Amino acid sequence: MKPALIELRGIRRRYGGQGPGEAATEVLRGIDLDIRDGEFVAIVGASGSGKSTLMHILGCLDPATAGSYRFEGRDVATLDADGLARLRREAFGFVFQGYHLIPTESASENVQIPARYAGRPASWRSARARALLARLGLADRLSHRPRQLSGGQQQRVCIARALMNGGRVILADEPTGALDSASGAEVMALLQELAAAGHTIVLITHDPGVAACARRVVHMRDGRIVGDTGGGGPAPGHLPEPAQAAPGVAAPEPAAPMQVASAWTELIESLRSAGRVMRLNRLRTALTLLGVIIGVASVIVMLAVVRGSQQAVLAQMDTFGTRTVFVFPRWISERQRPRPLRLADAEAIRRLPHVEQASPYAEQTMLVRRGSADFSSRIGGTTQGFTRALNWPAASGALLPNEDEHDLSKVAVIGETVRRHLFGDGVQAVGADILIDKVPFRVIGVLAPKGQTGGQDMDDRIIVPLGAARARLFGSFDLERIDVVIRDMAHAAETEAAIVRTLAALRGGHDFETRNQAQEIRARAQADSTLTLMLGLIAAISLLVGGIGVMNVMLMTVRERVREIGICMAVGARQGDILRQFLVEAVLLTGLGGTAGVASGLAIGALLMLAGVPVSFSAVAVTAALGCAVATGLVFGFMPARQAARLAPVAALSGP
Ligand code: ADP
Ligand code: MG
Repeated sequence: MKPALIELRGIRRRYGGQGPGEAATEVLRGIDLDIRDGEFVAIVGASGSGKSTLMHILGCLDPATAGSYRFEGRDVATLDADGLARLRREAFGFVFQGYHLIPTESASENVQIPARYAGRPASWRSARARALLARLGLADRLSHRPRQLSGGQQQRVCIARALMNGGRVILADEPTGALDSASGAEVMALLQELAAAGHTIVLITHDPGVAACARRVVHMRDGRIVGDTGGGGPAPGHLPEPAQAAPGVAAPEPAAPMQVASAWTELIESLRSAGRVMRLNRLRTALTLLGVIIGVASVIVMLAVVRGSQQAVLAQMDTFGTRTVFVFPRWISERQRPRPLRLADAEAIRRLPHVEQASPYAEQTMLVRRGSADFSSRIGGTTQGFTRALNWPAASGALLPNEDEHDLSKVAVIGETVRRHLFGDGVQAVGADILIDKVPFRVIGVLAPKGQTGGQDMDDRIIVPLGAARARLFGSFDLERIDVVIRDMAHAAETEAAIVRTLAALRGGHDFETRNQAQEIRARAQADSTLTLMLGLIAAISLLVGGIGVMNVMLMTVRERVREIGICMAVGARQGDILRQFLVEAVLLTGLGGTAGVASGLAIGALLMLAGVPVSFSAVAVTAALGCAVATGLVFGFMPARQAARLAPVAALSGP
């Protein structure tokens, strides 16, 4: 006699009784049952007698409360979740009364699921699914969804699924319960054929007529076995002949050599089904995507704006010449005009080490005239060094010709604002004569426009040689300012200190002040970094909100698909498979949202750029935002995914 394939001893299953005042019900009250390889056993009993509960225990979907269950001599209580999943996958095939097909997948895909979890490559799976379905008379229904199939057809898909991994033991719980008599007879004929082909079959039914086709009938009542015809039961065959025979259904062993799918194809598989889920819930997917898109786009735009403004500041540092120290006379009191700087001061500074140049600058506001146009502007008397100190090129023509403070030539370099007022558009300024306070000067150049700085129009000025300004316009060498260019930034601080010391000694007092453009700009950059922090915070919050949206949707998805998860577990999905599936869905969601977010962030940035806001994208920021989005999917998807993976198979199968 063959040793028992399945050996149950004293199996009990109790429900409830955990909470105080909650009565425990014992559904199975000590089941002893041996089932040998290749047997066809029918378990019959009234509704509520515990047949389904027993089947769930047999199929390792539910643990017994007490007693032992040995499969091929091995105690299943010693198996962990993955071990049980493997046993379900390799040994069992389930046929349910309610079919339990995944409604969103086609017949062929449903049949392939067990092989997917067994790691079979896609080509092998689809070939075998096609062969199985063809043998069960469903060759033309491969791509139909379950609801496009009749009950009998769905049950045959279910049987094909049970056979996918070999179906060594087929557990059928009321397989004909929902079918009309003709389809029921067909299904029974199929099961008989499978039994004849060597499959072990456990058929659960409350219908003695259906049970009669098994060789052995076990009777249950109130959680106990009350009768067992043993191996020598009535021979099968007194059911009506099936309308459509299904010859040669697959033998227990899978028909092809094991060929394990790579992690890559598994990932592709997960992505495909995640994509399908997203398509089925379009509106919800779109709303969740929107959350992620807004998060990612705001991160990108804000980083770009911050970077843009930083670069604008840096550019300003360039245009101003950070190596420049400005020396001004200082107002000691409100009433007393400051003592002006003198040429001697500039000369003394020029003698200091590390000083490249010290250019004197005198300024007065005067009326400028050309023809009938007149305009009041600031006239600066200086040398060539002025434009060099400010790093200020000419837009057309030339700059002041030399460094000579006594140069008397009546030439002028005009700012853009002056040019516009005196010449307008389309008139050549260079070479023209203008009157500054009635003194004719020849325009030799136009300064490149610099715009506003500190509320002052930098382009509203005319510069002329200092000598000419003193002799023809101002009448003195009183200086407004000395612009000192330091040769080497490394000595900036020490040189500035030396300037202060030298001038204080020369002038016999500290009646001047120095200002250093680099410091001012640095202070502004500091203020900008506070802004950066705030914007970054806002962006992070919007990404967080997007992430919470993802989590919310994933939790909803898990709840909705509890039954599907149960089905996958029944056909052998490991916890890790379920976890991966849901994580892939979350990451796909955030990955797509992130990509769309990057696109819209770039678009918004481009619009801002057109509107004149300094914007600067960085590849690092874009990559980081996308990475954050995907990480958000992982982090916020993990909880729901783990929740799904930890569902008890039988609880999941009975659904929400
Ligand atoms: P059958 O399949 O023979 O009709 P079941 O095994 O489905 O019977 O159920 C047997 C008994 O166990 C029923 O009385 C049912 O109410 C009870 N039962 C089944 N599942 C649960 C559960 N999860 N919690 C509490 N009671 C349950
Ligand atoms: Mg039942």
